[in-house]
Amino acid sequence: MEDQGIKGKRLLFFPLPLQGHITPILQLANILHLKGFSITIILADNFSTTFDNIRANYPHFTFHTIYDGLSEDDKAKTDIDALFLLSLFNQRCVPHFTEALRELVLEDSNIVCLLSDSILHFTKAVADRFKLPRLVLRTGGVCSLLVFAAIPLLINKAYSPLQGMESVQEEAVEELPPYRVKDLPLFKTCNVDALYQVIEGMIRETKASSGLILNSFEQLEQFSMSKLRGDFPIPIFPIGPFHSHFPASSSSLMSQDQTSISWLDTKPPKSVIYISFGSVAAIEVNDFLEIAWGLANSNHPFLWVVRPGLICGSEWIELLPSEFLETVDGRGHIVKWAPQQQVLAHPAVGAFWTHNGWNSTLESICEGVPMICMPCFGDQMVNARYVSHVWKVGVQLENGLKRTNIENAIRTLMEDEEGKQIKERMLELKEKANLCLKTGGSSYESLRSLTSYISSF
Ligand code: UDP
Repeated sequence: MEDQGIKGKRLLFFPLPLQGHITPILQLANILHLKGFSITIILADNFSTTFDNIRANYPHFTFHTIYDGLSEDDKAKTDIDALFLLSLFNQRCVPHFTEALRELVLEDSNIVCLLSDSILHFTKAVADRFKLPRLVLRTGGVCSLLVFAAIPLLINKAYSPLQGMESVQEEAVEELPPYRVKDLPLFKTCNVDALYQVIEGMIRETKASSGLILNSFEQLEQFSMSKLRGDFPIPIFPIGPFHSHFPASSSSLMSQDQTSISWLDTKPPKSVIYISFGSVAAIEVNDFLEIAWGLANSNHPFLWVVRPGLICGSEWIELLPSEFLETVDGRGHIVKWAPQQQVLAHPAVGAFWTHNGWNSTLESICEGVPMICMPCFGDQMVNARYVSHVWKVGVQLENGLKRTNIENAIRTLMEDEEGKQIKERMLELKEKANLCLKTGGSSYESLRSLTSYISSF
């Protein structure tokens, strides 16, 4: 029955071409392809991003490339202020995306809907022009989506969440438990108004969409899900964790260093700390050196992803002193980019020191790896609060990035009784993540609903 409704139907996907966004949308496309839909991915080019790896890894998809509309001048602005990109993209891409949709819809009458990243809110008006239903993918958690939706309220109550408020960082936000002021999304941008507009557009056009797909699962964010259902009166499909629907898929925009795995093979079970701060976050030189010495002083083995561009004003690891390199020789392995899912699944990994991007957080939960949380910006603060204070499956690095704090956090997780309890809770959460995808599980059922919903278009 289901197959009859799906056969020949084509879905259009439009990702935001950043690593943490393109990965889940390609995974979603893969999940729906496995159900029998044909897939076209519209890629916005000119982000100085190369999509070769993606094209090679998804030969079963059709790709349609468009110009993102950003001029050299725009790119110079977004190099200085990366978040401004989100605002400019929503403006500049409109004519190019409209043209693409016109062409694709004319060419293929089997196209039944558009699935767009929620941040690309301009796509709603364009889809409406072509009478195409538009579903939205929220690539982050429900918890942070609700905080974004509450920003007008927070501003009214005199919080200024996007900029931080130094004097009241530790205070509870009474209107929005379980957050303290310092857990509210922080964005370093010169264009706060532009960013507010993007968030406001994302919330408005998500509420006006034909449906919301979530890379999360009921048992992980139960309370947030029921609030979401009250506030967003549209069909909602929590079908995550996406990456667990299949053994492995690669949508990495950077090449992954496989020595990570051969190095881990030489280490005892649960002994290694894996450190990565994702594809966007940047840190100051001083923090980089504190991290290095914190790791060295902990005496635990570590696998550290130092992405080129991670350290402000430095190419890569040239600032590490030779004394550090001698101290950690054989005990530490540094790579530019790792096969993260494989790393987290490796038996040698005992803890993940993360910036708490949503994908990293979910990947860690699915492998049952406890976290050390070091959120850097945006929704990461909200995710970290959930990890450390709601699910209690990690510890947050508080009170500054000092080598002694780092050493203490590592010891808590790897050696203390508290760490043992954190591990136990993490294994329970991992089990819930496994169960939701099994026959009859919440994400399994939600995917069935999504599939029949799309088939009805
Ligand atoms: N990732 C990876 N190799 C690395 C670091 C990260 O493949 O060395 C992947 C990771 O598995 C995740 C994504 O990059 O799927 C990062 O997404 P996340 O939402 O965690 O953070 P963002 O990069 O958006 O800040």
